[in-house]
This record gives sequence, structure tokens and C-alpha cells, in this order.
Amino acid sequence: MKHRLLTAAALFIPALASAQAGPQFDPARLARHVQTLSSDAFEGRAPATRGETMTVDYLAREFQAAGLQPGGDVVGGKRGWTQAVPLLKGDIAGTPSLSINLGGTAIPLTQGNEIAVRAPMNGAKSVNLANAPLVFVGYGVTAPERGWDDFKGVDVRGKIVVLLINDPDFEGGEGQFGGKAMTYYGRWTYKFEEAARRGAAGVMIVHETDPASYGWATVRNSNTNTMFDIVRKDPAAAHTAVESWIQRDLAVRLFGGEAQFAAAKAAAKRKDFRPVPLGTTFNARYNATTSVITSYNVAGMLRGTRRPDETIIYSAHHDHLGIGAPDANGDRIFNGAIDNSTGLSHLIEQARAFARAPRTERSVVFLAVGAEEKGLLGTEFYVANPIFPLSKTVAVINTDSMGVYGPARNFSISGTARLELLDRLIAEAARQGRSFTPDPRPEAGGFFRSDHFPFAKRGVPAISFRSGNDLVTGGIARGDALSADYTAKRYHQQDDEYQPGWDFSGIVQDAQLLHAVGRGLANSTAWPNWSTDSEFRAVRDQSTGERGSSSPPPIPAPAPATAPAPVNQPSGERG
Ligand SMILES: [Zn+2]
Repeated sequence: MKHRLLTAAALFIPALASAQAGPQFDPARLARHVQTLSSDAFEGRAPATRGETMTVDYLAREFQAAGLQPGGDVVGGKRGWTQAVPLLKGDIAGTPSLSINLGGTAIPLTQGNEIAVRAPMNGAKSVNLANAPLVFVGYGVTAPERGWDDFKGVDVRGKIVVLLINDPDFEGGEGQFGGKAMTYYGRWTYKFEEAARRGAAGVMIVHETDPASYGWATVRNSNTNTMFDIVRKDPAAAHTAVESWIQRDLAVRLFGGEAQFAAAKAAAKRKDFRPVPLGTTFNARYNATTSVITSYNVAGMLRGTRRPDETIIYSAHHDHLGIGAPDANGDRIFNGAIDNSTGLSHLIEQARAFARAPRTERSVVFLAVGAEEKGLLGTEFYVANPIFPLSKTVAVINTDSMGVYGPARNFSISGTARLELLDRLIAEAARQGRSFTPDPRPEAGGFFRSDHFPFAKRGVPAISFRSGNDLVTGGIARGDALSADYTAKRYHQQDDEYQPGWDFSGIVQDAQLLHAVGRGLANSTAWPNWSTDSEFRAVRDQSTGERGSSSPPPIPAPAPATAPAPVNQPSGERG
């Protein structure tokens, strides 16, 4: 395989690096990590498998060789390289018995057809609901900073809340929820969480393709199989017994016809919406099989010289989909070369660059998280059990699926967000002669589908960086064609495999940019914040007292998003 490495090394263009004052990154090393981690020997890196063990060992070894100190759990008085992540794994045993009482008759529902019910993650071993009343709660949103409450004090305990996907101004255009762009209130995870906070017995999300951004097949495939969650002290506070989606046709029947459903949706777009009992009830009976498996996050660090308790985190997920059913060529291994060996490779080489340079005033942490493909669970566990306090985590820079087609004139981030961390990234990129291209499809909720998001939810300024699509060689036409080809033929498929012709000089350019931003923060006293209208600002501001008082002024109004699509746009439901 040596000739492949030589090919990659030959692509290293000194002019690219010498234009920067920053560190050098070696494309041959970047290529080698990707080639190794995505090889068949690593078996697709699924959580709690031999492939994960190999991955975790590789990362710890490479972090150590790069010059990091261990940044994981303290075991026997000594910090190790890993953080154990216990995960709850659940399946519905057999075929669930599900029905709706409509006009005096019980109408049976088939799992995967009219309804997709998730295995219970609330700690229950069985679900037994008889005649649970259905109540329509609009978009199911409680947004105090927008003066919006769909529940209006109505008690939904013991009831099934029926609600719409996305947020109230998705279809109407401009409104209080960012127009077409999805706020977190539009995301299905939010709907499930809010229903659990209110003590509902269950949730039915009405599936519609446009506001969901994917078809029923995606809903069925992601909800009727094995479910995972982090092990929680009080799982019922985070999950109702029945978390489900229903097809639009069933919803129309529940509402009594197309006209009634349309009227209910129109009412739900208004701030004065009130919950509406549907006059029907739901029955559910099934058992669950659950077990606890252990996955691992890997963490290394460089201790800051002056304010070591303040940290900058670089992160990337190390898991992928493992081994599954064979494709047409008999290939069963989901290698995950782009998703996310590229992000891991960047993480390792970023660690080396920081370790070689003079120590920074703040600490820099390199965090490779597990179980991202199961729902950002390695990160969820980390933010629930942070090794470095979240209130003093300055920023998180996540990389997931980086560009392997050479340098780009632009870059992007996953989803739409306004925060000073992005302003810094834009300013630093301008020095490289690169511009920022906003996510062209923020309505797909890309912001909520990568590992920076659990940090954001806890208020920590965090972004997922995306390599650009306006390639120096071939421009947007080539960038978009490569991206479309990847999405169609390789994304979350067996063929996401290492290719010897890949050009790692684009990741070199990205690494230099991300290094400069992280290094700038690591040597400053700044605490970049979210914009004043961000739903993540209030939770960050609660811990202001723990940080001193160097927060920057609020961010001015955003520029409209009109630019073309970045590459590596995820098309599935999970990152
Ligand atoms: Zn993925």
C-alpha cells in the first residue's frame, strides 16, 4: 500500500501551507489514519464491538504519540484515555399490539405501516395502555423566550399528545421560528422531550414529508429497530412510554377528514392555539427486552499554562454502522471512511499540531466520541457527565465527514446558528481568502444532527465545521457533483471506503483554519456567546458568574442566506 501514501504525499503543495503562519499538516499522515480506521479490519467501528475496541486503542495510541496527556476518566487516582459510556439498548419483543378506538370500533394498527413505535426508553419492561385519550397539541412547543406555549396549561398526564413535525412558521414563511429554517422546537427529539417533561403517556408525531425533510421509509427504518439511549438516573423524565410517528393518512382519519386536518394545522400556526381533544383513544400492549452495553469516548489533553480549568474542545465521532446485511457485491462492512475517519484523522493531526507548538494559556482537549450514529449518544453522555466543566468550556469545534477533493474557496457549518464562534471562523477564513457559505437547507435541521449539538443544548458555544463545495479545482460544479455522488452511492453504505486518489490538501487547509481559531481562543480571555435571540443563550447566561466578565457584545442581525450547497450534506436521518 506504500504507493498510495506516496500519491497522497505528492499532493502536498507547499504554497498552500507557506501562505499561513500556522502549523504544517502532513497529507500523508492524514491519509494513513483514514485508510487504517476505515479498513475492513476495524469492522465498521460499531459501539461495543471488537471494531470499537480496536478504534479506541488506535486513538489512545495516536494521541499519546502526538504528545497529549490522558484526558479521560480517573481510574485508581490516575487519568486514563477513555470515558466509559453505558448505553441502554432496547427492542420491542415480538409484534406490538396497537389500536385506535374510532367511532366505537377498535381499528388495529400495524407497526411500520400506519404507525412506527419506538422501543420504550423510559425504563419500562412492558407497555400497557388502554383507552389513553388523544389530544392534539399543535406543534407541541413551549418557547418562553418567544412568548409561545402550545399547551396553555392543559394537563396532558396519562394522555397521548398528537403533534406536527417542524415548527409553527415552517409552512407560512417568516414568523417567530426563523421561517423555513428549523429551530430546535421543530426537531422530533424536542417533541419527545417536551411530552416527557409534561408527563404525557405517549407521543404521536404526524409525519409529512416536507416538514420532516424525509419520507416515511426513513421514519420506519429509524424507529422500528433497536433503540439506544444513555443510561439515565430517571429515564422516565426524558422519555414517555410510547414514542411514535403516524402516517398522514391516519392523522386525517383521527381529525375526521382532510378539511378538519387542514383547519387544525392552520390553528396550530397561531400563538393563540389551544390543545384540542380528538375524542379518540389509543391502546398499546407489548414487552421490551433491554440490556446495558458499554461504549467509550476517548479524550486527550494539553494542559493550559495560565487558566488550565478553561478548555477548548476539538471533537469528532469515532463510531460508524458496523457490520450489516451484504450489498449487491456481498460487502457487509460499513467502513465509514469519509463518515467519520476523516474527522478522526483531523482530530489526531490537530492534536499533534497543538502538542508541537508552545502550550496555550487555556487547556485544549481532543475528544473522540462514540455512538454518534445511534443518536449523538457519546456526546450526550459526555455533557451529562462532563470531564471538564461545561461552564468553563470556551468552545467546541466538531468535525464530521471532511472534504477529500482538494482545497475549497469556501466552508460551511451544519445548520443555521448565530454565535461569536462562527464570526471568528469567518474572520479567520477571510485571512485564508475563503468565504462562508450558509447551510442551504436549514429546514432539514442539520444543526441538530451532529455532535456539537448536545453541547449547544447545554449552552456551550459549539459548531460542526463543514469543508467547502467551491473547489479550487473544478469549482462548485465539481464540488456539488462529487457531493451528490457520495450521498447517492456511499453515504451510510458499505461503499464509504478509502480511495487512493483522494486529495488531503483540503483537510490541511481546513486544519490550519480550525487551528488558528482554537489557538486564538486558547490564548485569550474571551468567552464567545450565542446571539441574543438564540434559544441556547439563556442556558449559557445562567453560568455567567462562573466565568468572569469578558463576554463580547451581542452579535448584530444576520445576513440573508443565498449561497450554494456545501459538500457532504447528510441525507439520512442520523448523522
Ligand atoms: Zn454517519
